[in-house]
Amino acid sequence: MAEEKEEVFETQSADGAEVRETDIVFDCPHCSKTLVIDYRGAGLQINCSECGRDVLVPIPDGMELTDLDMDPGEILKQLFATRRNYQKAETSVQGLKARLVSLQETLAVMQQVIAEGLADE
Ligand SMILES: [Zn+2]
Repeated sequence: MAEEKEEVFETQSADGAEVRETDIVFDCPHCSKTLVIDYRGAGLQINCSECGRDVLVPIPDGMELTDLDMDPGEILKQLFATRRNYQKAETSVQGLKARLVSLQETLAVMQQVIAEGLADE
């Protein structure tokens, strides 16, 4: 396990690990264990901390490999902005879905009322 803190990027099991907002979380293709690695490990080939086999760390959406040559602060800003936008989009999609469902329910009730009204005449 990670007993020393040096500039070597290691995976750790996501179970019980403190995952920083900048960490990359992905599943090992061999043992399908959920792994966590520092964002600077993106695109690197590392060993899975669980099964020890070679794993290619995925590059997060919105992050280019060339970004790794950029100033880390700049990358973090981009990464955070991307994640924030994604979360906002998710939230608004969920809100719209909820509204759609309630509109559909209202519509169903109205159709019912109309159908009953027509039947009464
Ligand atoms: Zn593995």
